[in-house]
Amino acid sequence: MNITENFTITLSCLFCDAALTKEENKELHSGDLIKCQNCGEENDYESVYEIAKEQGIEQVKNEVMNELKKSFSGLKVKI
Ligand SMILES: [Zn+2]
Repeated sequence: MNITENFTITLSCLFCDAALTKEENKELHSGDLIKCQNCGEENDYESVYEIAKEQGIEQVKNEVMNELKKSFSGLKVKI
């Protein structure tokens, strides 16, 4: 099971928090700048990616915790 397949992360503008969109079929690399369609500021790809990745990790962590709690809800207690 690859849990990360169920998650997509959105890159957000560092200045106005709008979702960033890249040009179709354009590969982004470290050091690239993504221009925000909302405020026009240029975002460093690596910075926004790192932030999005952290948020993605949090999402996956929460999901895993929920799944764990669910699978433990049927646990019988023996006393
Ligand atoms: Zn912006």
